[in-house]
Order: sequence, then structure tokens, then C-alpha cells
Amino acid sequence: MDKEAIRRRYLEERDKRLRPDGNDQYLRLTGQLSHYLDDPYTPMTAREPRRDHVTVAFIGGGFAGLVTGARLKEAGVDDVRIVEKGGDFGGTWYWNRYPGAQCDTASYVYMPLLEETGHVPTEKYAHAPEILEHCRRIGKQYGLYDNALFHTEVTDLTWDGTRWIVSTNRGDAFTAQFVAMGVGPLHVPKLPGIPGIESFRGHSFHTSRWDYAYTGGDALGTPMDRLAGKRVAIIGTGATAVQCVPHLARACGELYVFQRTPSSVDVRGNRPTDPEWFASIATPGWQQRWLENFTANQTGALAEEDLVMDGWTDIARRVRARIAELPAGERTLERMLEAFEDSDFEKMAEIRARVDAIVADPQTADRLKAWYRQLCKRPCFHDEYLQAYNEPGTHLVDTDGKGVERITETGVVANGREYEVDCVIYASGFEVGTEFSRRAGYDLTGRDGVRLSEHWADGMRTLHGIHVHGFPNAFIVQPTQGANLISNIPHNLTEAGRTIATIVKHALDHGHTQVEATAEAEDAWVELLLSGAGSLLGSPDCTPGYYNNEGVDPGRAGRLMVGHPQGAVAYFRFIDEWRSSGDFDGLAFR
Ligand code: NDP
Repeated sequence: MDKEAIRRRYLEERDKRLRPDGNDQYLRLTGQLSHYLDDPYTPMTAREPRRDHVTVAFIGGGFAGLVTGARLKEAGVDDVRIVEKGGDFGGTWYWNRYPGAQCDTASYVYMPLLEETGHVPTEKYAHAPEILEHCRRIGKQYGLYDNALFHTEVTDLTWDGTRWIVSTNRGDAFTAQFVAMGVGPLHVPKLPGIPGIESFRGHSFHTSRWDYAYTGGDALGTPMDRLAGKRVAIIGTGATAVQCVPHLARACGELYVFQRTPSSVDVRGNRPTDPEWFASIATPGWQQRWLENFTANQTGALAEEDLVMDGWTDIARRVRARIAELPAGERTLERMLEAFEDSDFEKMAEIRARVDAIVADPQTADRLKAWYRQLCKRPCFHDEYLQAYNEPGTHLVDTDGKGVERITETGVVANGREYEVDCVIYASGFEVGTEFSRRAGYDLTGRDGVRLSEHWADGMRTLHGIHVHGFPNAFIVQPTQGANLISNIPHNLTEAGRTIATIVKHALDHGHTQVEATAEAEDAWVELLLSGAGSLLGSPDCTPGYYNNEGVDPGRAGRLMVGHPQGAVAYFRFIDEWRSSGDFDGLAFR
């Protein structure tokens, strides 16, 4: 392997794609474009605005809200209200109903509260309708529907000195003793800033608002019969496109896939869950064991066995094997990073060879090869995506890093050629690097009138990724500054849910009306975060994408988008001990 040549190629491919406008290249879905956000799944029902009081308000009805709500109910905190912009629970799984949507991390660790609900995932990688149904199951089992407000977006959160005032776009202004927020890292769809996007006269939609009324078929896999004979463009080749392209390839007359950067697409190896096998693993405490085992394997911590055994754990397995081969005296950081790079080169070479083995046309195969390290972009796994390019009606339009040039009234222009189409599907992803208040749709006004956006002006600051000094009785549920485990987001959320339920119960049981992170504890946590080596995701050597702020240096704010310096396993162990100790070091109860 000519390592120098590979490094050079990686940098060349990155350089082709670097652009100074970074996140600004994308369009917000406001004004003329706001119709792309309409909910195609549930009609809005009228209701009276709420002016009452609840013990806990949770913003977001996805996994974060569901698992935190469940843990609060288990702890005996009954008065919980979830506020959700969608028409039901599910979050990402409410919105993303595109054909072929399924989880990319094994269901046994991805789907939360399996042991508590008794649900047995039907497949190793469950499809979206099953995951959405599971969200509803959690909502029903824990009584979270009773007080929930759907199709409701929070517009303001203000601390009035004793409680939070929650205002929404439905005219609500109710109060809450505690608020928690799990608004998700990827919930604001974005469109590429391509000139002419408003001028297209055919049909168009974003993948997170799939228009089955236009395409025919449904999320359960019924073929999209109304696309027969239609010319369809899909823009984007990230994790979403990888899952829906095979279905489009089967349904459309002609499908044009517009590619700026190819994804790495490794083996999926999905299979139905064998009930006998499942019965053999599902002994008490099984899901927690599986969660901890997956995290240890995927993050390169010590683990005796690999229960999940998939593409996520494979890379760590390889790195560990290489490090084990090093003589004891040579296990320096430099040699370990070298071992990591070697394993990565080997893995990516295999992924590129897989393209050659599957895609019949050598030129198309060549253009589908990813030239970057595996964790530069979200790794993808699929057993039908590459095969789709062997369908006669499926055409890859590779733009060699430049992207689509223009949209006209009748089609899509790339590489100087117009492709006339009936429908454009935007698989262009979601806002990530933009500031919290923009993505959340509200800012928080905390103690002394300080806004969260002001407190975070130089980057995110928290204690444990959950508490913010100056914002009493408020909690955030998300991975950053905690475990930052990107390969299995729900693991971060279930742990945060447990932590929050423990704190709220403690406060209520002891008659404390307020709890807040101290300034010293927050400062010390931020110092600890900055003492680490930084995140492996987001390297400036990587091809641009949301993992590295589109290649634009985010400065100090970027250095704070990290997890515990010793990794996810260390964080989970730490937070478990912190919770169980009952001291709640770093929090002040009043
Ligand atoms: P991404 O942000 O990953 O992909 C957006 C795509 O649009 C990229 O291929 C991007 O190219 C392309 N694009 C942007 N602008 C242009 C342009 N002007 N011309 C042509 N192409 C353009 O969004 P996804 O919805 O695919 O995925 C988002 C995330 O959601 C994933 O990374 C993953 O975390 C999650 N997800 C998880 C799934 C799962 O677990 N099963 C399934 C689907 C998504 P470029 O790469 O060059 O920027």
C-alpha cells in the first residue's frame, strides 16, 4: 500500500470540495421555501392554549423525551408534559419515513427500553415503521400521551425566578418547575443553496417529508407505483439517499442520482431476529449489557467479546488487533495512531474494492468510490445501494465535488448539462453546525435575564453535557460534552434520562425548589473537556461535511464539541457513580 499516495489523494479530494461559505451554502426553509416543512403525515387539530402548571416540561418527543419521560414516571414524577413539533411521538422516526429507512446501529442497542417494554425487534436493523411504533409503545406504556402537546413548537423559555414560562406557537404560556430539552441534533431540514431552486415547476420534496401521495407506495415497503414512467432526480448521496435509492431505482422510469461526494458503503448483513436466539440472550439486564458491550467495542475500550459484531465494531476490532501486535515497549500514542491509520486505509480499500465487485460499469464504479478516512463522513452500510446502479434506468450523475449547478423550471443542471425531470427529491440533510437557538427555534432566558445564546457565545458550556450554570431547573439531553457516542445516539439519551430523573426526584423528595450547576463545576468540566485530544470526528483533513463544520475551522467553539477525554465508557462509568453517590457534586440545591 502506497500510504503517501493515499494521503495525497484524500487531501486532493478534500480540496476540491472546500468552500468558504461552509454552512451558509445551505438554505433555511423559510418564506417561499417553508412549505418544504409541512407535515404530510398528520392533520393539525385545533385546541385551546394551555395556561396551567406542570412539574416537568420536556421539549421534543423523540427518543430523548420518551426515555426521560419514562425514567421520570418510573421515579414517581407523574406530572410530565412533552411538547413536540410533529403530530405524534418519534422525532427523527416521525419525520423520516422515506422508503427503506432503517436504523444503522443494531436494533438491540439502538431501540431504547426494549427490556422494559418487552418488544423484540424483528430484525437486526429494524425498519422505520417498527421504530416509530416502538416510540408510540413507550408513549402509551408510560402514560406520556396524556399531557402531551403535538404540532406545537416552543417559541420562548423564560425563568421567572421560581419557575419556567413556556411559550409556544399555539398560543400556550404555561409554567413548569423543571424543563428538559431533547430537540435532536438533526431535525431542521436544509436545502442546497442552488440557484433557481424556487423556479422548478415539477414536484419536489425533502426526504424527511416523503410525499407518498405523489410517489405511491408507503413506508412499509409497498412499491411506489405512481413513479412508474416518471423521471426523478435525487440530490445528495448521504446516509438517507443510500437507503432510499434502491427503492427509487425499482420504481422510477429514470432515476438520476446527483452526487457531490460518494459515501462509503460497507456490508449491511441484516437478518431477522431468531426468537430462540433472542430468548437465549434476553436474561435480566441484557440490554444494558449489550449497550455497554457495543460502546466498549466501538470506542476501542477493553471488551472480552463483541456481541453486536458489525461494521461499527469492526474498525475498532482491527485497530485493537494491530496495537496488540506492537511490542510492549512500542505502544506509544504515535504508533497507536499509525495503527489506526493503517486499519482505516485497509478498511477503505476493502470498501472501494466492494464497489468494483458489485457495480458492473467500471466508470460508474470508479465514481462511487470514497476517498477519505472512514469516520470523516457518516459510514453507511447497505446491501442494495451499489447494486441499484446496475439497473438500466438508474444514472449516477457525479459532479466531481462541485455539486448541482442550477435548478431550472424543468430540471436539474450539473456538469453543464440539463437533466429534465418530473420530480426532484432533496436528500440534502439537516442543519448541524448552526447555533442552538436557531435550530431549536427559541432561546432560553435564565437567571438575571441572561440568554443561553449569550452564555454560549464562545461555545457550548455545560456540566456533564446536561446542566448549564445560570439556568436553574433546566436540563439538556444530547451527546456533546457527555459521552459523545455518535455510533449509538440513544445510549447517550437513556443515560441522560436516568440522570435527570434521579435529580428531579431528589429535589422533590427533599423539598428543594431549585437545582443549578455551580459556576466552578461548569468551569472545571469545560477544562476537563479541553484537556482531551479532541474529537476524531471533525478533522480538518477530512472532506467537508457536517462532522467537520463543512471544513470551516469553528475555533474554540469547535474544540468544545467533544466528549469526556477518556471516552464514552469512562463517561458512562463516571456518571453512574456520580448519580448513585447521591452527593450530586457540582449541583447546588436550594
Ligand atoms: P447528509 O448531510 O449526510 O447528506 C447530504 C447530501 O447532500 C450529501 O451527499 C451532500 O454532499 C449532498 N449535497 C449537498 N449540497 C449539494 C449540492 N449542491 N449538490 C449535490 N449534492 C449536494 O444528509 P442525510 O439526510 O443523508 O443524513 C444526515 C444524517 O442523518 C446522517 O449522517 C446520519 O447521522 C443520519 N441518518 C441516519 C440513518 C440511520 O441511522 N439509519 C439514515 C439516514 C440518515 P456532500 O457530501 O458533498 O456534502
